[in-house]
Amino acid sequence: MDVVRRVHQMREISREARGTGRKIAFVPTMGALHDGHLSLVREARQFAKAPLKHKAGAKGDIVVVSVFVNPTQFGPTEDFETYPRDIATDADLCIQEGVDYLFCPEPEGMFPEGYRTFVDVEGLGSVLEGASRPGFFRGVCTVVSKLFHIVRPHRAYFGQKDAQQALIMRRMVRDLNLDVDLVIAPTLRHDDGVAMSSRNARLNPAERVAATALYRALDRGRSMIAAEGVQESQRVESVVREILVAEERVRVDYVAVADAETLERPSRVPGECLIAVAAWVGETRLIDNVMVKNPENPA
Ligand code: AMP
Repeated sequence: MDVVRRVHQMREISREARGTGRKIAFVPTMGALHDGHLSLVREARQFAKAPLKHKAGAKGDIVVVSVFVNPTQFGPTEDFETYPRDIATDADLCIQEGVDYLFCPEPEGMFPEGYRTFVDVEGLGSVLEGASRPGFFRGVCTVVSKLFHIVRPHRAYFGQKDAQQALIMRRMVRDLNLDVDLVIAPTLRHDDGVAMSSRNARLNPAERVAATALYRALDRGRSMIAAEGVQESQRVESVVREILVAEERVRVDYVAVADAETLERPSRVPGECLIAVAAWVGETRLIDNVMVKNPENPA
């Protein structure tokens, strides 16, 4: 595996790979890799396994993982400085997963002095996470479009763990006619239900236990809709919230029952429904979600 730190080198590698008919599978991350990330890498490796037959002399397809803690998606009071970073371990994990290139550019290589261009997906980017973290999705969309232009993947992999991000990525790719297929992979969880996240590393043991409330609450919301046929979004939101506030170490940011496509929040539970939560567990902000089909309101 090669570690690539410069934008122009990554561009050169991608140009060469495409020129020789090889496919490029890409997993963008902020590092501190865990099994959730690695599940995306494994899917990417599955896709990019066979050399293209029709090109004489073609080498194998390639998997690129990027690790970049993107300054433009953090607000001034957020955890950019303290976000977990461990590039040596990330590189070891990538080697074990058969990654070909680990792209970890320097911030000044991506956003040099005088940088001025941003990508904003209107509407979808200003609710839920976007309401709590103004500018967050503008930063995400900008960095992902830059990474797409540098890496030029045929396929890129994102996690359902960040459901709103996945939705916005789809919208951006469609709206900007980007020539890349997106794959959205399911959320990987620990045995106690807690969604894997780089930020979990910052929880102390008591907070780690308290963090189980998020999935417990979501699971309760899911069964209210899927098994009990509850139709009032607000009722579901209240019960989810009650489970969260019952934990003394948990402070709720938002609980939302939303349409899984539009993120609108109708009073009746939508047919394809996203239940999303964001909560502080001690000093660490976590997000999680589940998708539920409403049997009483088929989409
Ligand atoms: P991050 O490093 O947090 O920006 O995440 C990089 C990618 O990994 C994003 O597409 C996330 O949605 C995805 N991801 C993060 N955690 C998980 C998880 N527990 N299961 C599946 N995918 C995940």
